[in-house]
Amino acid sequence: MGLWAAVHAERLGIKTLLVDAARIGQGASGGLLGALMPHMPDKWSEKKQFQFDALVSLEGDIAVLEAETGLSAGYRRSGRLIPLPKPHLHRIALGHSQDAERHWCHGDRQFHWHVSDTAPVDGWIDPNAGASGFVFDTLAARVAPRSLLKALVSFLGKAKHVRLVEGLQVDGIDPDNGVASTREGTIRFGRCILSAGHSSFPILDGVTSGLHSSLGQPVKGQAALLKADVDAGLPVIFRDGLYIVAHEGGLVAVGSTSENRFDDPLSTDGLLDGLLAAARAMAPVLADAEVVERWAGLRPKAIDRDPMVGAHPEHPRLIALTGGFKVSFGLAHRLAEAAVRAAAGAVCPFELPETFALSSHITVASHKM
Ligand SMILES: Cc1cc2nc3c(=O)[nH]c(=O)nc-3n(C[C@H](O)[C@H](O)[C@H](O)COP(=O)(O)OP(=O)(O)OC[C@H]3O[C@@H](n4cnc5c(N)ncnc54)[C@H](O)[C@@H]3O)c2cc1C
Repeated sequence: MGLWAAVHAERLGIKTLLVDAARIGQGASGGLLGALMPHMPDKWSEKKQFQFDALVSLEGDIAVLEAETGLSAGYRRSGRLIPLPKPHLHRIALGHSQDAERHWCHGDRQFHWHVSDTAPVDGWIDPNAGASGFVFDTLAARVAPRSLLKALVSFLGKAKHVRLVEGLQVDGIDPDNGVASTREGTIRFGRCILSAGHSSFPILDGVTSGLHSSLGQPVKGQAALLKADVDAGLPVIFRDGLYIVAHEGGLVAVGSTSENRFDDPLSTDGLLDGLLAAARAMAPVLADAEVVERWAGLRPKAIDRDPMVGAHPEHPRLIALTGGFKVSFGLAHRLAEAAVRAAAGAVCPFELPETFALSSHITVASHKM
């Protein structure tokens, strides 16, 4: 989120200092999965339209970034495969197919929610997983998280207006006086965009009055990377929280657990073993695939589950940019643009859903007991 914000700041010519407590990518964004999953196409809403527009625009934004840096972000609109184990799910999917025709269009581009009795590709998903058929949606995509971060950092390395400092933690923010404190002294700012992942929440809690509950929490996730000789263009498989994502270079990512309680935020355990077993059953081609990495991270989940973006109602110089939870990669470029434009007092070419506003989350946290 912070890297995309810095990219937009550079493009708008805003003098910017980006500080990261650790090395770039040591937070949730340095993971393995990178699935870009659309919401269901039914019950259309402002929020779904925003996500749709973001998922469509990301392709072009990444193409520009790749052209500027000469680096690949490992992006591909490879689609998504959802097995339908029960007959009623097939009926529901047919309804979603019509919803997608209605809502998933952008200019002359139409994305689909195909429903079929057999899987549209051979040798990937277990045919028995879809006893009542399969969905193949053509909107879903994937990106390689670490490759994307490298491309963003490379862009910023040549920036004229942005300076990136790693290994410097912000210990406190005095938003009204425009001061952030660090062990190496204070940083003075006109505007501060806070995109510290889940660590943003305690900082925001500390400067917000009248809260009855924290503005957000970390949710642990575990994932793994397998070495497998499969086509990188294969669709993402998704079922009940299990994601199987084929990446470039013979790598397949498997995720993710969702843990509200945990002892060690960065360890992996039997929960990941369970996911791997489910993945190998779902995609038998992975049965003997070697695990090359096990990884865990903390997702930023805002109190109202939606992203948390925008100026603090009590401290207008402080702008939140966090709460992407499980869908940050598909939204970050747009959320960051909105945050930077809010900071610069510039008009934003699109609107954010109201429930994304920091003020909306504060209202929820002020009423929740
Ligand atoms: C297992 C797992 C799988 C996931 N899969 C997907 C997926 O398939 N698709 C998807 O879209 N999303 C996925 N997510 C969610 C996604 O990774 C996160 O929502 C996203 O990375 C959050 O980005 P962020 O920039 O808000 O936070 P982070 O990436 O955590 O970045 C926050 C940064 O702030 C820095 N920081 C923190 N505190 C301070 C401080 N005081 N001073 C200075 N710097 C500070 C940290 O060092 C860090 O670099 C997954 C998450 C997990 C854990």
